[in-house]
Amino acid sequence: MRRFELTAPCHFGLEAVLKREIERLGYDITEVVDGRVTFRGDEEALCRANLFLRTAERILIKIGSFPAETFEDLFQGTRALPWEDYIPKDGKFWVAKAASIKSKLFSPSDIQSVMKKAMVERLKGVYHQDWFSEEGERFPLRVFLMKDQVTVGLDTTGDSLHKRGYRKLVAQAPIAENLAAALLMLTPWNKDRILVDPFCGSGTFPVEAAMMAANMAPGMKRGFAAEGWEHVVRKQLWKDAREEAGDLVDLTVKPDIQGYDIDDKMVSIARENARMAGVDGLIHFQRRELARLSHPKKYGFLITNPPYGERLHDKEQMPELYRMIGEKYRSLDSWSMYLISAYENAERYIGRKADKNRKIYNGMMKTYFYQYLGPKPPRSDR
Ligand code: SAH
Repeated sequence: MRRFELTAPCHFGLEAVLKREIERLGYDITEVVDGRVTFRGDEEALCRANLFLRTAERILIKIGSFPAETFEDLFQGTRALPWEDYIPKDGKFWVAKAASIKSKLFSPSDIQSVMKKAMVERLKGVYHQDWFSEEGERFPLRVFLMKDQVTVGLDTTGDSLHKRGYRKLVAQAPIAENLAAALLMLTPWNKDRILVDPFCGSGTFPVEAAMMAANMAPGMKRGFAAEGWEHVVRKQLWKDAREEAGDLVDLTVKPDIQGYDIDDKMVSIARENARMAGVDGLIHFQRRELARLSHPKKYGFLITNPPYGERLHDKEQMPELYRMIGEKYRSLDSWSMYLISAYENAERYIGRKADKNRKIYNGMMKTYFYQYLGPKPPRSDR
């Protein structure tokens, strides 16, 4: 079986969560840098990583790495890579994204066109043809330049992995599915503990949690770019990975997961998304405003993404809303609360400093994951 070095980009600040996930899938990590985890794996690993990783953005085959300070270096370095190992005669290939940090070369469009030319030159020599129809399978490349070191990755995923295939309908400011999954994994929540998202919007936290509870692989309901690359990954291995995923699903679990939102429309969207994901039987959604939040049981978790006053609500409403969050949290006996928010005065109005706090980039936006830790339940309740 062919072996690769595979690179999985992720949200900045969540590398440790992704690393743990990859290790649990059974692969050896070779490098962790900001926003990316690299590991070793074979064809089977490539399939399983796409299908099972909840917190990665995509899976790239690392084609190579070389230094480049000029476009000539970039051209020569690119031409020297074994493109024919991946791209067939009729393949469509292009640099889908180029990112440059602290490097002399930085213009994405120039990097893209120089690399494309270099790849064409290489393939002309190998395939003895001057013209490429590019009518076959698609081979999108992603390139990172870091301190003049170029790293080239071939994207096996296609649409970002946060697209699970269940969320056709979104809220105004939805949280990415892979970010929601990573945040859930940062908490001690598990399927035997109560989970409430009082600002559930399109239902991302409850749905991701329910999929975890049911041991449902996040990629089961979607396809991947590399599924058509039979010369790189044998078809049978995708089948095997999908079969493995199918066998693992357990819909007989009875988790206590609730999603509330003040907006009727959001509640129906959340229900529809849960249905699409196949976990509607594991979640209870209801229209309910924060002011009416209560729960009779102890030791639950609030895990949520409240409005933060940029896109959704006006800034003036935030103090009152966060004061209410604090008040409601204090009334829940022995609960823990985790919230991701870009609102800078969150702790102040909640009325208590978070026990832990983690900086996370949601796209370009700096947000914080505030963690208020409740007591652990006694053994018998766990
Ligand atoms: N994480 C969600 C998005 C949450 S956006 C997702 O992925 O889709 C915040 C949500 O809070 C919005 O859907 C809004 O309707 C809801 N909301 C605002 N004020 C509220 C209140 N007082 N009580 C309950 N929900 C509220």
